[in-house]
Amino acid sequence: MAKRMTDTDKYKKRFVRGLPGAYKLLWDYLYHDCNHAGIWHVDFEIAQIYLGADMPVDSKTALELFNADEERVIVLDEGRKWFIPKFLEFQYGQMNPRNRVHLSVLKALMVFIENPAVKPLLSPFLGAMQGAKDKDKDKDKDKEQEKEEREREKEKLNKEKEREREKKIGGSGGKLRLFPIPGKSCCKCRMPAVYKAVGEFNHYYCGEHMPAQVKEKYDA
Ligand SMILES: [Zn+2]
Repeated sequence: MAKRMTDTDKYKKRFVRGLPGAYKLLWDYLYHDCNHAGIWHVDFEIAQIYLGADMPVDSKTALELFNADEERVIVLDEGRKWFIPKFLEFQYGQMNPRNRVHLSVLKALMVFIENPAVKPLLSPFLGAMQGAKDKDKDKDKDKEQEKEEREREKEKLNKEKEREREKKIGGSGGKLRLFPIPGKSCCKCRMPAVYKAVGEFNHYYCGEHMPAQVKEKYDA
C-alpha cells in the first residue's frame, strides 16, 4: 500500500466543489488509483465498480468536467492512459532529478515526451537529467580506470615473477643455474660443490669439475 499526501482543502476548492457528486468521487479515486507518475490506466468498468452503481460516471463527461477551465487530465496513448500533471506537483512538489523517486517518475513520463502537453512539463528537467546521466558516465569512467590500474598492477607483478624465475635459471634463453649444495665440496678441488653425480655415491663437483654434458646445460 502506497501512502499519498492529500490536501485538506481539496473539497473547498472551486473546481472540486463545482463537480457533480459522482465526478467528485471519480476525481478523488483517480488520485488514489493512478501510478506514482500520475498516470491512470483508463478503465471505467473497474472504476464504476469501486465508485458504486449509484455514482455513474463516463469518460467523455469526466474529461469535459475535469478539463473545463484548464487541462487537468492529459489524454495519452489514444485514450488508454490519463496523465494528471497536478498529481506530481502536489505529491512531489518541485521535481528534482537527483531524487531517485522523482527520477523514476520523470523516466516513466519520458515515453510521452513527444506529446505537446507533456513536453513543456518535462523540458525543465531534461537538462538536469542529462547532467545526472553524465555524472553516471563519469562514475563508469572511474570504474574503468580502476580496472585498468588493476590490470597494470597484475602485469607488473607477473613480470616481476618472470624476472625472479629468470634469475634462478640464469637468464632467459641462457643456461640453467646451479647453486652451491650446502655442506658439500667438490671431490676434485674442495671448492663448494654445485652438482652431484647421478648414481655415484658422494661424488660432488664444483662448476669447473662437473661433467662436460652438465656444463653444457648449466651455469654455476
Ligand atoms: Zn672442483
